[in-house]
Amino acid sequence: MHCVVVGGGLAGLASAVWLAEAGHQVTILERRGSLGGRTIAMPVAAVDDVPDNGQHVFASGYQHLMRYLESVGTREQVCFPGHMTVRMPGGATRRSAFGGLTGVRAALGDLPGVHGLDRFRTARAQATLIRQALRQPAWLDDITADEWFRRIGMPQSARDALWDGIVIGLTGDKPEISSAKVPADLLVTGVRRARETRTPISIGYPTVDLDTLFIEGAEKMFADNGVQVRHRAVVSSVDVTEGRVVGVTLADGERVAADAVVCAVPVWSVQGLLDQVPGHEQIYAAVEALTPVPIVSVNLYLDRDIGMADWGEILYGGEGVLEQVWDRQRMHGRDASRHHLYSTTVSAAYELTHKSNVEITDIQMAMLGKYFPAARDAEVIHSHVVRMPKSTFAQRPGTAGIRPDQRTAVRGLALAGDWTRTDWTTTMEGACQSAARAVEVVLEHARAGAPD
Ligand SMILES: Cc1cc2nc3c(=O)[nH]c(=O)nc-3n(C[C@H](O)[C@H](O)[C@H](O)COP(=O)(O)OP(=O)(O)OC[C@H]3O[C@@H](n4cnc5c(N)ncnc54)[C@H](O)[C@@H]3O)c2cc1C
Repeated sequence: MHCVVVGGGLAGLASAVWLAEAGHQVTILERRGSLGGRTIAMPVAAVDDVPDNGQHVFASGYQHLMRYLESVGTREQVCFPGHMTVRMPGGATRRSAFGGLTGVRAALGDLPGVHGLDRFRTARAQATLIRQALRQPAWLDDITADEWFRRIGMPQSARDALWDGIVIGLTGDKPEISSAKVPADLLVTGVRRARETRTPISIGYPTVDLDTLFIEGAEKMFADNGVQVRHRAVVSSVDVTEGRVVGVTLADGERVAADAVVCAVPVWSVQGLLDQVPGHEQIYAAVEALTPVPIVSVNLYLDRDIGMADWGEILYGGEGVLEQVWDRQRMHGRDASRHHLYSTTVSAAYELTHKSNVEITDIQMAMLGKYFPAARDAEVIHSHVVRMPKSTFAQRPGTAGIRPDQRTAVRGLALAGDWTRTDWTTTMEGACQSAARAVEVVLEHARAGAPD
């Protein structure tokens, strides 16, 4: 079959790679001048470097993303050290891990900044939280994570130390916005994957930039398999005749015929594309419900080592935002003779995203100074601020079930993308799992005898 994949982010790339592996002829139509979507490296001429648009971390349960990396030959470029570090203002640190003794201590309420009776309350609330995540009460999608924590009596100190950060890290948004069901579902998925693979839950990172990790191997695979990649090809509609997909129309009016189409655009770009698809109103409802969440990342080129204890550190007490800092020397084995690169990530950065680059840099340096004494006198050789107003999406209460399935009412048409229904939320794994399911829908269509 000739399969058209609309969108060259991870969901589109994985769909194209796996359809080509299955022996089909594939064309990727990507609106921008390069592939990668939300996972890209960005050249910074001032320091002759190519950092990422934002740190992307991996969870050990990311099975479909790992399959994609196997397909494009970069599986070995992801490292799972088994720990991160939590740092208090002033510099005290604690290694965090999900398993082993640290995990047991955390389960018993022994968290940084949690003292006295709060430890007992934390242990009790955590036990209730896990019980309710596994056997979910019907009201879980009616309330926010914030409300859930209050109902189960989670002390504020434990929220500051761990749980608010977990919600932001897992759902991409603040506990006052995210539905309680989202972190609950993700905890269940994480535990299930850990059981299936008999591997403790841990967080990993790429040891190379995102283009090398996701795109270079894919481009080689495309060249070897005759996959056509068309840049600056903006799709304006998916075309349907008598209940089956026949191709797509581009914004300039060109028609591209296809036996199957995988539509892998982000949720905020889908409106208008599927007008010919029966039931598109329900798919478009997701656009209204899943609102974009900003992330601000800063690549800080400093004149010195600030003394991080780990590859990634979560800065405790971030006052409603999740502050994280990444040591690119340690992660990428970088030469530090010219500068030291530290990347900071602020998730759910609603307050930061409208500030100027200078203000954002000052805020990030002041934040580093609070935690790392060596950062106070550090000179900023260059600061590369990346604002992504549409990084992830929020899943507010009442949105469970709103994410559409990859299968559509049209033969030969599948949806993909992190916003379609998967076991994960807005993640790279969600994007790749959706691709695996979309490819399965297309392959079923092929087995059913298309093209006629
Ligand atoms: C700063 C940042 C940090 C993140 N951190 C993490 C993390 O640590 N861990 C994690 O798992 N996830 C993380 N994510 C989320 C992750 O990057 C996304 O969930 C994932 O990359 C989404 O992939 P996608 O293919 O669904 O969408 P996208 O990557 O958005 O790809 C969609 C593509 O479709 C193209 N397109 C849109 N409209 C059209 C059209 N009409 N015609 C043709 N092409 C079109 C777009 O140009 C784009 O290339 C992060 C995201 C950001 C931005």
